[in-house]
Order: sequence, then structure tokens, then C-alpha cells
Amino acid sequence: MPDPVNRTAAGRVDGLAALFGRLRRGWPALLWPPCCVVCGGPGAGGRDLCAECVAALPWNIGACPRCALPMTPQAGPDKYSDPGFSPRFCPDCRESPPPFARTVAACRYGFPLDRLLPRFKFHADLAAGRLAAQLLGDAVAAADAAGAVGAFEAVGAVAAGPVLPPPVLVPLPLHTARLRERGYDQALELARPLARRFGLLLRADLLRRVRATAPQTGLHAGERRRNLAGAFVVRPGPLPPRVVLVDDVMTTGASLGEAAATLRAAGVAQVEVWVVARALPPGAAGASDAGGAVQSA
Ligand SMILES: [Zn+2]
Ligand SMILES: [Zn+2]
Repeated sequence: MPDPVNRTAAGRVDGLAALFGRLRRGWPALLWPPCCVVCGGPGAGGRDLCAECVAALPWNIGACPRCALPMTPQAGPDKYSDPGFSPRFCPDCRESPPPFARTVAACRYGFPLDRLLPRFKFHADLAAGRLAAQLLGDAVAAADAAGAVGAFEAVGAVAAGPVLPPPVLVPLPLHTARLRERGYDQALELARPLARRFGLLLRADLLRRVRATAPQTGLHAGERRRNLAGAFVVRPGPLPPRVVLVDDVMTTGASLGEAAATLRAAGVAQVEVWVVARALPPGAAGASDAGGAVQSA
């Protein structure tokens, strides 16, 4: 069966593509009805995802708002009732808080994200990317509506004072060698439509990856941290008080944590993280084998 995704996979904006773009916008239902990027079935609700695949989406509900891991009862009910801590965060975040104040992860990494995100990341599939940004944007809107943004205040990340301006979006940077090899920066492609949707400034230049790190896959948390130390630098100059780091998948959170710590050390008051999918550590409630197969940058 021909793969319908290939129609938009090239990603080169040339005259022909622009013409097709105009045609598609003008005649969407006749020429290119929404088509599921995962299974090729008919799209539902104007999205490039069919009703069955929408129903299969593993939305990351009931997760810790700080690290986006599930708040499992087996994490220790006595820790949850510790009067010294807010019950809204998981025990790990209360015992050693990560350098980011909030994580919005739209879904857990599993079907159909394990099809969608690799197509976007390694094959520059723009339809998959558009859908991924849409899912993440919907999750951010839902989290903000639910008041999870108050997490900043709850963890005391910022002392009471003037309300900070809206955050600046920063895609988690790839090292230039990795970018050349892949020819495509998936975090930047995700951040662009999100900046448009929420009317936020995009600063792809703010953070730079100065050290190409060994692939993180297969390393333990401690090894990942050592592998990443000093991997990022902040561009000299005025800094925004709030930054949102954007990426496709959060695995252990080591790369995003190192980037957030670098921004905080440079003087950014608040850092949060937006990712399309959160891979669960092996053994976590709801973790699937697919989580171990995430190819992280
Ligand atoms: Zn489908
Ligand atoms: Zn947590």
C-alpha cells in the first residue's frame, strides 16, 4: 500500500510545493482529505490522525506536574503525607527537585507516538511533525487551563513578586555535527508552530550545544549526567526571565535537566519543559518496552 505520508515528506519549499500548499488550503476536502499519519486511515476531526489512533493516544494524565512521571501509589503513601512537602509533586521531585519547575508531556511514549515521532525526527515527515505540535499545544492549553502553571509558585521557584512576562520558547539544541548529519532539527520544527499558537517569542539562538555527546541510549541516569556536563552554553546578552525548553521526547530528562540547569545558572529565573512524549523508566506503572527503544539525542 502506498504510504500517504510521502506526499508531504520532502519538506523543501519550492514553487511546486508552494502551489500544492495553496491548492491544499483552498480545496482541502477534495484534494487531500485528512489522512492518518500512523495507519493511513481517514483522518478525524480535521487532524491527520484517524479516530482509532486518536482513541489509542496515551495522554499523560495524572502525572507529576514537575517531572511528568506517573504519580504511582507504590511511590510510598507515607511520603505523600509528609507534612513538609506539597502533595502535588512526586516523592522524587520533592526529595531532589529538578532544575525545571514544570513539565508538560502530552503523551506517554508508546503507540502511536512510537510511529509518529521517529517519522518526524529521522525522516523529516512534516505531517507527523504538525500533528505532534498540535498534540503538545493541546496539552499545554489543558495544563494551563487546569492551573498547573501555578506549580512555579508552589515549589517556591520564585519568591512572591511581580508577575513574570510570558516565557520564551527555546528548542533543545542539537550539536551542529548531529544537525548536519540529520539535516533537520525536530525541536525547532516543533517550537515554531507552538510559538505561533501561543503568541510567544522563539529564541533558537539562546542555547547552544557545544559538545557532541555520545548517544544517551543505554546509559544509566548517572552516566547520562556525566556525559552531558558542560554540553550547553547560554548566548551572552540579556536573558528572558522565563524559558520553555521544547523537545520531542523526554527520556530520563538528563539532557533537558542539564539545559535547564545551564539556563538557571546563567540567571534565567524559571525554566519549564514542553515535550510531545514522556518515556517511562522501565518498571514504572504503565511503562512499555517501547520506552526503552527511544532514540534520544
Ligand atoms: Zn490511524
Ligand atoms: Zn515528579
